[in-house]
Amino acid sequence: VLIDVHCHLHEFSNPHKFKEIVIIAVSDDLKSSIKTIKLCETEKNWIPAIGIHPWEVKNTRKSALEEIKHLVARHEIKVLGEIGLDKKFVPETWDKQLIFFKFFLKLANEYNLILNLHSAGAWQEVFNLLVKYDIEKALFHWYTGPLDLLEKIESKGYFIGINPAITIQEKHKEVAKISKNFITESDGPYKYRGLELNPLMIKNTIKIIAELRNESVSKVEKRIEVNFRKYFEF
Ligand SMILES: [Zn+2]
Repeated sequence: VLIDVHCHLHEFSNPHKFKEIVIIAVSDDLKSSIKTIKLCETEKNWIPAIGIHPWEVKNTRKSALEEIKHLVARHEIKVLGEIGLDKKFVPETWDKQLIFFKFFLKLANEYNLILNLHSAGAWQEVFNLLVKYDIEKALFHWYTGPLDLLEKIESKGYFIGINPAITIQEKHKEVAKISKNFITESDGPYKYRGLELNPLMIKNTIKIIAELRNESVSKVEKRIEVNFRKYFEF
């Protein structure tokens, strides 16, 4: 079974073509959080993650945070995402991003939630806050941060996402060669340098990871499955 640990399923016009794939469906804002919860009720393989994406922080009222909290309580949500910090694409909203992210870290502690994280240009800052807030379960989606930080992330028992962009992104290849705690993801339907990312690409992603690591496809699949079980605790 294919595992997609980070996908914006609510943005696809025909998401049900991915119904065989185990997907953590992340949200971007309050509206897509509600949509994602409803969407995931229709397929047994899909798990909703809710939250406010760092790119959406600029256009989101702080009162939306309380509404996310209500959704968590009302729908027995297990995962928060896509949340985090971004210094690369939206540095101008950094202070407000910090307020939002710290709210979600407290919420995670209160409800024992699993985090699905965006950390572009802020890998170290996100890691430091996870440690500070004593977060147990977290995944750094599409990890392209420093390799020495990857070691620290994994020694804390956190996970990273490996994306189909691995076909063209050299930094991601280096990550895939040495990571232990990786899980496959698509980040679909995001477009990256001509790649229209979607969950069906994960089959080929696994093949490339296996080649890079000199391991069999079945060994890589097994590791992804074991990691996913540890991350999601099912
Ligand atoms: Zn994403």
